[in-house]
Amino acid sequence: MILPLVYYPDARLRAKGAPIKVIDDTLRQLADDMLDTMEKHEGVGLAAQQIGQALQFAVVDVTGIDDRPSTMTIAGKAVNPEDYMPLFLINPVVTGTKAKEPGSEGCLSIPGLRTDVNRSKRVEVKTMTMEGKVLEFEATGLLAVAIQHETDHLHGKLFIDLLSPAERADVKDELDEIVEKYGPKE
Ligand SMILES: [Zn+2]
Repeated sequence: MILPLVYYPDARLRAKGAPIKVIDDTLRQLADDMLDTMEKHEGVGLAAQQIGQALQFAVVDVTGIDDRPSTMTIAGKAVNPEDYMPLFLINPVVTGTKAKEPGSEGCLSIPGLRTDVNRSKRVEVKTMTMEGKVLEFEATGLLAVAIQHETDHLHGKLFIDLLSPAERADVKDELDEIVEKYGPKE
C-alpha cells in the first residue's frame, strides 16, 4: 500500500524515532508499505518519519544505479550490494569517516530540491535484518550517502540542516516554493 508522504516543514520530520523492540507482522506490513511508497516516488531511501511514524526504521535501495556506484564489505570481504537490497535499517548505528566528500542529494519530503551535501566517504553500519539477525557492514558510494541521509531522518535531521549558511541562502527561494506548494494550507 502506498502511504501519504510527510513534507517539509512538517514537525513529524523532526521527531526522533523510538527503537524497534519487536519484528512482528505490524512491522513487516510497514516495511512492505514503505517499500511500495519509496518505489512509487522513485526514491533510493525512505525513513519512517517520512510517513509520519517516529521509529528507528528506514529502507534503502540503490539497485540499478550505476552512475553512482556503491560498495559493501562484510567482515573484510567485498559483497554485491544488490544482494542486500532492499536494505532495511532497524535501530541502525552508523559511524562515518572523518573524510568527507560532496555529493548531490534530494529528499522525497522536500520535493524538487537537489543540492550538494558533504558526507562521510565510508560508513560502518550495525543494524538488524527483518529476520532479527545482526548485520554489520561497511559501505561507500551512493549506499553510504543514502544510509547517512536515512539515519539522519531517524534522529529528526534533514539534509538541508547540513548546508552552510551561504548554501542555505542559495536554496532559500526553492525551499520557500516547496513550503508554499506542500506546506500547511491556511
Ligand atoms: Zn530524505
